[in-house]
Amino acid sequence: MKLENKSILVTGGSRGIGRAIAIGMAKEGADIGISYVNKKEKALEVAQEIKNMGSKAVVIQADVSKVSECYGLIDEFFKKFSKMDVLVNNAGICILGKFTNSTEQDYDRVMNTNLKGEFFCAQAAAKKMIKQGGGTIINMSSLNGIVGEPDQCAYNASKGGINMITKSLALELAGYNIKVNGLGPGFIVTEAAEEDVADAEVRREYLQNIPLHRFGKPEDVVGAAVFLASSDSDYFVGQTLYMDGGIMIQQFREMRDKR
Ligand code: NAP
Repeated sequence: MKLENKSILVTGGSRGIGRAIAIGMAKEGADIGISYVNKKEKALEVAQEIKNMGSKAVVIQADVSKVSECYGLIDEFFKKFSKMDVLVNNAGICILGKFTNSTEQDYDRVMNTNLKGEFFCAQAAAKKMIKQGGGTIINMSSLNGIVGEPDQCAYNASKGGINMITKSLALELAGYNIKVNGLGPGFIVTEAAEEDVADAEVRREYLQNIPLHRFGKPEDVVGAAVFLASSDSDYFVGQTLYMDGGIMIQQFREMRDKR
C-alpha cells in the first residue's frame, strides 16, 4: 500500500490511461477524485470500482480547456477531500490531420485542452499545495513530447510544451516541497488511439516499429504513475518517465530487420 491515506485527483480519469491510473492508485490505498468532461457514466463506473475496493471516490465534471473550470475543479476537489496529495494532470486529446489542413479551431482545441489545461490545473493545485505544505504533480506527456510524428503536429507541440512545464514547475516549486514529474507513454491502445490502428495494414506497420511487438495497455502506465506519486520517487525532480515498448531508442529498424 504505497499510497495509503493519500487524496489524489486524476483529470480525465473516466477512460483510458486516466481510468487505469485512478484504479491502480486506489489499489495502493489512495482516495480518488476522477474528473471527466462529457462521459459522466464512465466516470461513475470508475468511481464505483474504486469504492468496491474500499477507497473513497468522487467524480467531478470540468472542461480543463477553460481556466475557470480548472480552478473550479481544484476547488471542488478540496471541498470533497480537504487536502490534495497528488494531482495527475492526465486529461488530453489528439486531433489527427495533415499539417497543411490543420485549422485554427483544431489547433486551439488541442493546445487549450493539453497545454493550457495542464498549466492551469497545475497552477490552481500548486497554490493550494503551497498552503498545505507540499504535494506532488504528475503531468501526462507522451513519447511525442520528444520525438516527432506526422499528422499530429499540434499534439506533439503540446506535449513538448508539457515537458517544459514539468521541468520549469519542478524547479519553481521544489522549494515548497512540491514534487513535479511527468509520464511519457508510447502507443497505448485506448479509445483515443483505436482509430489510428483500425486498419490492419497500419496496425501491422506500427507493430513492426515497436521492439516489444505489442501495443501498450493503459495498465502499462500505472507502475510509473504510482512510483511518481509515492515517496519512492522523492529525489526525482522534473523527470519524465517514458514507457514505449522501445520505440524511442531505435533507428533504422526496417533496415536491421532485413539484414
Ligand atoms: P482517452 O481514452 O480519450 O481519455 C481522455 C480523457 O480525457 C477522458 O477522461 C476525457 O473525459 C478527458 N478529457 C478530454 N477532453 C477533456 C477536456 N476538455 N476537459 C476535461 N477532460 C477532458 O485518452 P487516453 O488515450 O487515455 O489519453 C490520456 C492522456 O494520455 C492524454 O493526455 C494523452 O495525450 C496521453 N497519452 C496517450 C497515449 C495513447 O497512446 N493513448 C500516448 C501518450 C500520451 P470524457 O470521458 O468525459 O470524455
